[in-house]
Amino acid sequence: MADCIFCKIINKEIPSKIIYEDDHVLAIHDIEPVAPVHILVMPRKHITGIAAVTDEELSNIGHIYGVIRDIAKKMELNEGYRVVLNHGQQGGQTVNHLHFHLLGGRSMNWPPG
Ligand code: 5GP
Ligand code: ZN
Repeated sequence: MADCIFCKIINKEIPSKIIYEDDHVLAIHDIEPVAPVHILVMPRKHITGIAAVTDEELSNIGHIYGVIRDIAKKMELNEGYRVVLNHGQQGGQTVNHLHFHLLGGRSMNWPPG
């Protein structure tokens, strides 16, 4: 999508620190990390958010979780980590291209703010 910042990152029009990519998924370091490890994992396909995922695409979400699992292992987040998906205005979503946050390297608070 033309004016989507994550699509521009996926198309390499905007630089990013890529830590994993395959045919369906890109994982990059967040530009404003809120934890020692803060990675964004997103589908290459522009999907505005989780509410726009079709039943046919649900297996891709499973693939994304597998990528998250593997990155967490590679980064030795053995003490634990958090996976966050913000959706919509009240959910705190600021970029309307589906993405998951992988947060680690510190203790997380609950409930989240
Ligand atoms: P959201 O608030 O939509 O769940 O998360 C969007 C995330 O994208 C934020 O954590 C923000 O720091 C990150 N972000 C926004 N613009 C860029 C960018 O240009 N590059 C990278 N690497 N991350 C970005
Ligand atoms: Zn996009």
